[in-house]
Amino acid sequence: MSSNVTVKVNGVSRVVPVGTVVREVLDGIPSRDLVAARVNGKVVDLTRKLEHDASVEPVLADSPEGLEVIRHSTAHLMAMAVQALYPGTQVTIGPVIEDGFFYDFAPAAPFTVEDLPKIEARMRELANADHKIQRTEVSREDAIRRFAAMGEKYKVEIIQGIPDDRVSIYSQGDWMDLCRGPHVPSTRYLKAFKLTSVAGAYWRGDEHNAMLSRIYGTAFASKEALEEHLKLVELARQRDHRKLGREMGLYIFDPISPGSPFYLPKGVIIFNALVDYMRRLYRRYGYDEVVTPLLFKNELWNTSGHWENFRENMFLSPDPDSETHSIDTGPDGWREGYGLKPMNCPGHTFVYRAEKRSYRDLPLRLAEFSRLHRAERSGTLHGLMRVRELSQDDAHIFCREDQIEDEIALNLQMVREVYDALGFERVEFKLATMPEHHLGTEEQWRMSEAKLGNAMSRNEIAFEINPKEGAFYGPKIEIYVSDALKRKWQVATIQLDYNAPERFDLTYTNSAGAEERPVVIHRAILGSLERFIGVLIEHTGGVLPLWLAPEQVRVLSLSEKVEDYTREVTGLLKREGFRAHGDLRNQKLGFKVREAELAKVPYMVVVGEREAASRSVSLRLLRGEKSNAMPLAALVELLKKEPIPA
Ligand SMILES: [Zn+2]
Ligand SMILES: [Zn+2]
Repeated sequence: MSSNVTVKVNGVSRVVPVGTVVREVLDGIPSRDLVAARVNGKVVDLTRKLEHDASVEPVLADSPEGLEVIRHSTAHLMAMAVQALYPGTQVTIGPVIEDGFFYDFAPAAPFTVEDLPKIEARMRELANADHKIQRTEVSREDAIRRFAAMGEKYKVEIIQGIPDDRVSIYSQGDWMDLCRGPHVPSTRYLKAFKLTSVAGAYWRGDEHNAMLSRIYGTAFASKEALEEHLKLVELARQRDHRKLGREMGLYIFDPISPGSPFYLPKGVIIFNALVDYMRRLYRRYGYDEVVTPLLFKNELWNTSGHWENFRENMFLSPDPDSETHSIDTGPDGWREGYGLKPMNCPGHTFVYRAEKRSYRDLPLRLAEFSRLHRAERSGTLHGLMRVRELSQDDAHIFCREDQIEDEIALNLQMVREVYDALGFERVEFKLATMPEHHLGTEEQWRMSEAKLGNAMSRNEIAFEINPKEGAFYGPKIEIYVSDALKRKWQVATIQLDYNAPERFDLTYTNSAGAEERPVVIHRAILGSLERFIGVLIEHTGGVLPLWLAPEQVRVLSLSEKVEDYTREVTGLLKREGFRAHGDLRNQKLGFKVREAELAKVPYMVVVGEREAASRSVSLRLLRGEKSNAMPLAALVELLKKEPIPA
């Protein structure tokens, strides 16, 4: 056996003695940034010895894998601190989760948030003490003996469930934990962490087991990154659309109809403003709006394929004419009963089929804003983001094969126009390609994928491929926006469908007089209006552009003496077409301003005796600016200058 191994680092091969530690072959990388290494694709400790030929890559602190190593190592650090502070507390598991980690403990009394600063302080001490983190392999029996001696019955149970003969133990200072690793080389690598919350959790997630005490935390590569993250978390809490929706009086939810918003008058203004905007675009882009039924015989869902693929997500109803009044949800249940539509597409094929179509009639672009129903599980419902009842700015384009690229290009143009107008600066595109289960041949798929790709390239749109994520009936373009909290939302989609025309036997007469199949393009730009409103509220923090603001102007009177003038100003603004209200209450100005700010009214107009005498107003914008003694006509001019898209 050779006593050397060949390692490849950043593409350069070199020969080193067997047993050289990984850290040594990665010289040249500042130790603070390097937290682990990828050896032949697997992330391992920097202290791991090289026994075979390998390719070695650095894992840096701020990479996704690096962050995982840091977060899990911080979970160990927390467990060490907890056991030092609360002797007798048993440890269980401490995995990494999105944005952080948790550790479940069995303490004498459950932890509360009041315990967290103390634990955090001890963690900092332990981190500064620069304890080396060491990995040792021991036999399973030995590990069981060691943890049993420490009274760690949960660890013993975990090890008993491991099939391997040997297990690894990580130790730092006088503390150790059973773990697969990898970990950072020493505790001083852990500088930027924060414990965030506590919760109860059953051992192994089973309610028949003991209740454990869970501590959540997060950790980052740098203090700056941690602070940035905590700021965004706090902002997300303040901007939660359920909280803002209540404060702004937009919508409510009630268990009487789970997952279905009750829009209040102000919420309806936003909803309708968005629909009106889409309608203005539809006129320009050549769409026709239709209204089709909400309730269809299940026969339709059988033809469309929904009965086979989607019926668990549908609200079904018995046939009022049947004697049994029962619902059969089995594979053949479609022969009877009705279902509420989860999508508009199948209904639109009937509009298409209602007339004989020729090649000259195409493309036919049908749009609909009807309510849709989806039987989402109650545990998944979340405000407006995940609902059971929704509307989409849904449209189906029936076109010829040779029109696909142009239609896609037009839609991409529309997408960009809409997101620009709505103030989303970062829009990303992905092309979702042929999934495992698909209809049609691979050749057809590659052709339609190329069409979608070409249309994007023609519009100078850079896109990523989302492999195997297309719908079973065709590839799609997925469009994502990033909000002010740096979260990504998939909003718009454009999908090619060769399947629906087949299933519904759609045809048109071509120029030679023969029957041909059209293609269907499914597309939505805002997507679910409910979710879009939720995203918009959190993106803007409720500070909407004037055209979307439910209440555009609030006129605040300074005293009873200017009641008439307040009414006059409010009346004038209303006649000019603005959504204006007067606040005539006998309250301090500061109070009235705070209330208007909470309701996110973009323009606050203050009137007192001086303003009444000079027929002017003082203006305060929600955005912060102020101006005094503005003549009434100038205020109206200013409001009229606010942009309205399309
Ligand atoms: Zn570990
Ligand atoms: Zn559709």
